[in-house]
Amino acid sequence: MPELPDITVYLAALERRVAGRILARVRLNNPFLLRTALPPLKSFDSHRVIALRRIGKRIAFGFEHDAWLVLHLMIAGRLHWHDAPGARLAGRATLAAFDFENGTLVLTEAGTTRRAALHAVGSTTALAAHDPGGLEVMDATLADFSTALTRENHTLKRALTDPRLFSGIGNAYSDEILHAARLSPVPLTSRLAPAEIARLHDATRATLAFWTRRLLDECGDAFPEKVTAFRPEMVAHGRFGKPCAVCGATIQRIRYAANETNYCPTCQTGGKLLADRAFSRLLKDDWPRTPEALEELTLRLAATAAPRGAGPAP
Ligand SMILES: [Zn+2]
Repeated sequence: MPELPDITVYLAALERRVAGRILARVRLNNPFLLRTALPPLKSFDSHRVIALRRIGKRIAFGFEHDAWLVLHLMIAGRLHWHDAPGARLAGRATLAAFDFENGTLVLTEAGTTRRAALHAVGSTTALAAHDPGGLEVMDATLADFSTALTRENHTLKRALTDPRLFSGIGNAYSDEILHAARLSPVPLTSRLAPAEIARLHDATRATLAFWTRRLLDECGDAFPEKVTAFRPEMVAHGRFGKPCAVCGATIQRIRYAANETNYCPTCQTGGKLLADRAFSRLLKDDWPRTPEALEELTLRLAATAAPRGAGPAP
């Protein structure tokens, strides 16, 4: 799914196109996309976008009447831009179109599972319910990072991709981060030495910064149309069976649910192969069926606890 670097590139492209622009209307091609009843989607018609924000892996559009549209692309949701207003809603993969005065933002979702979600939020205060609360790693000190990492005792891979602990990191970049930190995906966070945590902190920030810069440069002024979790220049992620770019050893994998984690045995596990089946069981015990399932649950709980359609922010 689009993670911090990908969402940052989307936001940069959206800043250039829809910031300060008036949203004429939203056309839904699939009513299931919209997960909220209030405020009504129509109440956003003819309002100006005055803020764009990343919340975890979500994109939030802030409007002049202190209301927000929060879009979660999940795994297969993608955005597209058409310079012409009123672009056609073509095919079942097209979920919605956001008509602006200067063009159309189109949301598609590949595959048959519909998981992408749109939430209409009635105030900036209520927006907080959409934040799973993970640490923003790029601004985080080592102490903050260490606290978040060890707050719960999880496998390292799970901790990095838990949106309640860290913001914007998913399956792809966590593989790259762990490789850069030369750490195995499966040790428990309570067992990490301070030097390992420091290495992970550095690797997390360096990896996310590197990829954000790289994707921004690749995209330039265009709209990002090639958002993918698999890039040939990645060192570990999606590289199962291929040679490690650093040491040449064959990249290995552990499979769990619908996902897999990729690692280099030489760079990360002291040459040890993590037996697929045993570790899958360990990861399964320590993993909701998907990271998104956990995130959805967290959000639902938060939304029930928060006041709905609260007034403007004080
Ligand atoms: Zn290696």
